[in-house]
Amino acid sequence: MRMKSEGQERVKYVDVHTHKRGKDIYLLDISDGRLAEEGELCSAGIHPMFIGTSEPVKRIEEWAEWKRIVAVGEAGFDRNSETGIAAQTELFEEEVRISETYKLPLIIHCVKAFPELLAVYKKMRPRQAWIIHGYNNNRQILDELLKHGLYISAGKKVFVETSNIRQLLPFIPLEQLFIETDDSDYTIEEVYAKVADLLRIPLDMLIRYMYRNWLSVFSGV
Ligand SMILES: [Zn+2]
Repeated sequence: MRMKSEGQERVKYVDVHTHKRGKDIYLLDISDGRLAEEGELCSAGIHPMFIGTSEPVKRIEEWAEWKRIVAVGEAGFDRNSETGIAAQTELFEEEVRISETYKLPLIIHCVKAFPELLAVYKKMRPRQAWIIHGYNNNRQILDELLKHGLYISAGKKVFVETSNIRQLLPFIPLEQLFIETDDSDYTIEEVYAKVADLLRIPLDMLIRYMYRNWLSVFSGV
């Protein structure tokens, strides 16, 4: 974590999942094999849409062992993938194992496969935090995820008036929320401002909550 040495520590914006370099604290997805800069916080996993063409799972484990990454992911399930759900499950379980072994939180991509995701959760009973990135599904699934203590990360879909996440934001406890830019062209400040506006809470309150969540999930970083 990059710390400013001068004066009192400023509460920072936290971007829990991004494919682009950002400001303050951002968790950069380096699954594409890109090189991180000195001190940059990174995650890597096997995106379910790119199984077979991405780095092998063994590489993810090496990066975890070498402390090159501070989280595993994005990893998970995608019903639109050419790879079947059984093979996705096998791979995902491997990544859960890595997350647990090296005590790294897991950033999850899940499209139309929440029953499968929850089945793995119940089977493996992970101790590491699970963060569902870009959540945009329904209320029932949201409640189920929250009940199990998962974190929900809201991103670019908050700008879409008809999106699920936009309607569901008030039902997510601030203690279980994260915010991200993912691959969008929005800045993290823009996403925070939108979320604060939708929740009708002050921006600085949102920033403080997200920073607190970051510290509690990524305390070892
Ligand atoms: Zn992503």
